[in-house]
Amino acid sequence: MKKHNFNAGPSILPREVIEETAKAVLDFQGSGLSILEISHRAKNFQPVVDEAVALFKELLNIPEGYSVLFLGGGASMEFCMVPYNFLEKKAAYLNTGVWAKKAMKEAKAFGEVVEVASSAEATYTYIPKDYTVPADVDYFHITTNNTIYGTEIKEDLDVNVPMIADMSSDIFSRPVDVSKYICIYGGAQKNLAPAGVTFVIVKNEALGKVSRYIPTMLNYQTHVGGGSMFNTPPVLPIYSALLTLRWLKAQGGVKEMERRAIEKADMLYAEIDRNKMFVGTAAKEDRSRMNICFVMAPEYKELEAEFLQFATEKGMVGIKGHRSVGGFRASCYNAMPKESVQALIDCMKEFEKLH
Ligand SMILES: *Cc1c(COP(=O)(O)O)cnc(C)c1O
Repeated sequence: MKKHNFNAGPSILPREVIEETAKAVLDFQGSGLSILEISHRAKNFQPVVDEAVALFKELLNIPEGYSVLFLGGGASMEFCMVPYNFLEKKAAYLNTGVWAKKAMKEAKAFGEVVEVASSAEATYTYIPKDYTVPADVDYFHITTNNTIYGTEIKEDLDVNVPMIADMSSDIFSRPVDVSKYICIYGGAQKNLAPAGVTFVIVKNEALGKVSRYIPTMLNYQTHVGGGSMFNTPPVLPIYSALLTLRWLKAQGGVKEMERRAIEKADMLYAEIDRNKMFVGTAAKEDRSRMNICFVMAPEYKELEAEFLQFATEKGMVGIKGHRSVGGFRASCYNAMPKESVQALIDCMKEFEKLH
């Protein structure tokens, strides 16, 4: 039976990317060696990093003066690297969920942290909008897509201070005005590559401004200077990331990804709103295109486990909501075909007919 992969992360990748990665595991570019056993300094690997960086810049239209890094540690490591490198006195954070809160917790070890707004009181079901960012902060940190709660900041905000964004789960799903940010980062396992690599886009001139000592590996300057090769980078996930980047370009780039994301999300939200058995959990204007969260309507609450089993038997994978919020979550990342979203919708319609 065909499986429809709605996993939140690690998650769906384009089939071609998986097949090409598998080929490279057996024989990397006809070299007679597996990509698992070559040096990151081999002369056939440097072009992989170079092309991945070039495609990042091209696809996101990254202006001059920015570096693209491939690191280890996950987005969670960036929660501490960001304040280490950018927080001298004071930073502002928008609290839109667990990931935002974790980022804020790390920053508190480095300076004053202003929580400009929070939607914690409503289980993070909306993005706060009425707040002011103090003019004297070093940066304003946001989480553009809240993977767990299914809310998303779908346009670049207008603030008077440099922004930093965790874009782990919506990178490459829309055009971004990178010039508004001094740093954009994310774990690759939601929308780009298998787990193990973290991408960081950093504005070079924003570095080197804090007065503290930064441990070598946690200093972005180390990796800018070393071209992500200061130490051994995650070779295989970087190669898969390159394949995804090529796929993104061939599909038409981020504008096309945005068009598809809107199309897929509109389809599924329309069914959630139409079907009497389900309700969406996020505020309509803040609904994520990447992670679509819904629960059983109150009068059908006891059928939650039954729907999960029904859908699983029809090939749906990973639609159980995050353990902290329950219900269902269908993650519809870039590689998710429209047909899979339609299969889930058909499931919901059939389930409704049964009851
Ligand atoms: C998954 C996720 C993280 C954590 O990523 P790791 O790579 O596991 O550290 C952080 N932020 C967001 C928005 C996420 O979706």
